[in-house]
Amino acid sequence: MKGSVRTARRIMGRLKKGDDLLEALTRECENAGITLGEVRALGAVSRARVGYYDQTGRQYKYIEREAPQEILALVGNVSLKDGRPFVHAHIVFSDEEGRAWGGHLAEGTIVFACEFIVREYLAEEHFERRFDEETGLFLWGG
Ligand code: ZN
Repeated sequence: MKGSVRTARRIMGRLKKGDDLLEALTRECENAGITLGEVRALGAVSRARVGYYDQTGRQYKYIEREAPQEILALVGNVSLKDGRPFVHAHIVFSDEEGRAWGGHLAEGTIVFACEFIVREYLAEEHFERRFDEETGLFLWGG
């Protein structure tokens, strides 16, 4: 599924120390009434938790690191799931030796400092996540 989109508003801000990164980004979108768009962020976290999708087992395995990490890059999108804004983001961290690692951003990643930008998109098509039998994931429906 694909469709053309055009940029509408952009919001830019900072999250609070102690915020859950995924929940806080979702809340920012909800508060701004953004249901379709793109998310980017950088900063640092005090604790990291990401998922890796096991394509055979059709479930996420979670990786947790209880240590300060830099957010080198967070890229994501916003669309609707169950009628509410849903942020899907992937994140690359670096540890104290500059080694990069990351995955599918999961709840449990705690902000130390974070600067984000959300670009709102408007589209003719309806980007809503629905269960996809082929992958076991909630993907944009056709
Ligand atoms: Zn993902």
